[in-house]
Amino acid sequence: MSVQNYLLNIPETTDKRVVIVGGGFGGLKLALKLHTKKFQVVLLDKNNYHLFQPLLYQVAMSALEPSAISFPLRKVFQKTGIHYRMARLEAVDPEKNEVLTDIGQLKYDYLILATGAKTNFFNQEKIEKFTLQMKSAPDALYIRNQTLLNFEKALNKSHKKDVKSYLNVAIIGGGPTGVELAGAMAEMKRYVLPKDYPELDMSNMKIMLYEASPRLLAGMSETSSRVANEYLQKLGVEVHTGTAVKDYDGRTLTLPDGVTVDVKTVIWAAGITSARIDGIAETSYGRNNRLLVNAFNQVEGYQNIFALGDNSIMIDSTHPIGHPQVAQVALQQAHYLANNLIKINQNKPLKPFHYIDKGSMATVGRHLAVADLPFAKFKGYFAWLLWSVVHLLSIVGVKNKLFVLLNWSWKYITYDQSLRLLVKHKSKN
Ligand SMILES: Cc1cc2nc3c(=O)[nH]c(=O)nc-3n(C[C@H](O)[C@H](O)[C@H](O)COP(=O)(O)OP(=O)(O)OC[C@H]3O[C@@H](n4cnc5c(N)ncnc54)[C@H](O)[C@@H]3O)c2cc1C
Repeated sequence: MSVQNYLLNIPETTDKRVVIVGGGFGGLKLALKLHTKKFQVVLLDKNNYHLFQPLLYQVAMSALEPSAISFPLRKVFQKTGIHYRMARLEAVDPEKNEVLTDIGQLKYDYLILATGAKTNFFNQEKIEKFTLQMKSAPDALYIRNQTLLNFEKALNKSHKKDVKSYLNVAIIGGGPTGVELAGAMAEMKRYVLPKDYPELDMSNMKIMLYEASPRLLAGMSETSSRVANEYLQKLGVEVHTGTAVKDYDGRTLTLPDGVTVDVKTVIWAAGITSARIDGIAETSYGRNNRLLVNAFNQVEGYQNIFALGDNSIMIDSTHPIGHPQVAQVALQQAHYLANNLIKINQNKPLKPFHYIDKGSMATVGRHLAVADLPFAKFKGYFAWLLWSVVHLLSIVGVKNKLFVLLNWSWKYITYDQSLRLLVKHKSKN
């Protein structure tokens, strides 16, 4: 921890100061809803951009650049009066109403913790060391680099066993991220890799998807789960449900029945957890380090500390294990919390959070997607079109929307994703 012992340079004001930590879906929406009210809004984020995580897999699969799904926070806040600092939260001192960051300390009247989640490796050290994860833009670029690098290396292997090992890709975790990655990789194998690597026999490449539970997309309906499985198999993906990978040492993947698979590219997409925050009481944490909050997003044990989105857990009769960790929950909680903070300022009664499930979707590939909406379930072309439109409209910024649309259109027409640059670290040039 590197807490700096001086004050952040934020002007003093008579308005209540709301410090929001995290400029993701929840934090950003909250800041934008509050800044016109009688509050001083300060947003802290360790990155200087908002990231649209649902399309990270397309960065990993060379279909989009990170800049197309990221938006600079300073640009979003132009002319809003919101104070932004690029700072990493290190600890909270609830007695002094102060946050401690890597660039200094800051007093708050209300603190909102919207720091999201990180990959959960379930304390499996080797898996954490040797697999690739996908929670940030650098993670996605690293997957892209490693995958392309392994294809390059495959060209120079003389033994078929080694060629296969470098071409094979294993994805662990059959949630939306794993399914989308596997589908995108299968399309790359079908349409792009044979043209890029004519010297390689692509029938040596296997794409394997492992899921510990009995079915893919556990958060969606059984029908969507079955259809997604069929789509993946149609694209040539080996789907292994009910298979909890036991070990990986950087070369060999070990399955529960002792069977081993040689594979150099292994992506771990099997769970998330939250990072604990120093200074917050042990009793305020629930499952997977999520902060226990009441119906007003108030963190257990604190009056003026709130949490929302992925790093919080609100348990009620309809959600006994909390809400799903998806963008809609973070956005809707931000909406309620903004209104409740205004009510607190006005000494008015608060309104408890009520989640409206707008449905969920997952795409597998061109014209192949599944959608569970409250009023109907779709699959195939219509679900794929709906998925594309919803994601396009949700991206922050007109330029980003246009870039994504252009890339998608190009890919649709040419069956190619043209961003296969292998960007190496300076020291390795
Ligand atoms: C690969 C992937 C695909 C996904 N696909 C979908 C999808 O299709 N549909 C869907 O609804 N959801 C999807 N999700 C989940 C969705 O992205 C999250 O539910 C959503 O981002 C949660 O919003 P949030 O505001 O809680 O956190 P986030 O959006 O994660 O934002 C957290 C912010 O906090 C910042 N931060 C973290 N720690 C600190 C710190 N110590 N100090 C300062 N700043 C910090 C981060 O930089 C980040 O900006 C996906 C997630 C991933 C990773």
